[in-house]
Amino acid sequence: MIEIIDKHWPMSVGDGKATRKKKPKILAITTDCCTGCAGSPACIEYCPIEACMFWIPDEDHPPFGRIEVDPNLCIGCQKCISKGPEGAFLDGCPWDAIEMVPTEDWEAAHDITLSDSPPALTAG
Ligand code: SF4
Ligand code: SF4
Repeated sequence: MIEIIDKHWPMSVGDGKATRKKKPKILAITTDCCTGCAGSPACIEYCPIEACMFWIPDEDHPPFGRIEVDPNLCIGCQKCISKGPEGAFLDGCPWDAIEMVPTEDWEAAHDITLSDSPPALTAG
């Protein structure tokens, strides 16, 4: 079963070129350390995939929220967590709130088998 996720802005716009052709071996996930960057997420501009990183509002504490990663779209490119020598911040999340996890671990934890390509959305 495919979980329908209600995506809010801000979200990744993507570079218009990268697409997911095959299920990646690793996926990005955001951790509880994600603060949402006060509504201006630093991470989303690095993600090459449209709507892969998106805003989830904190219903109890508006206007706060956080960023989530769509596991159906992530290509595991790690651009949202790029680090330089000795872990120096280069690109992506400056707060260490994104982790890369093995896709098979994510699938086992959620009891979901992800597809190579994103699920097609049907109209109507
Ligand atoms: S993942 Fe990092 S950069 Fe992105 S919104 Fe959360 S804290 Fe900010
Ligand atoms: S690993 Fe790549 S595709 Fe996945 S969320 Fe990070 S930047 Fe986007």
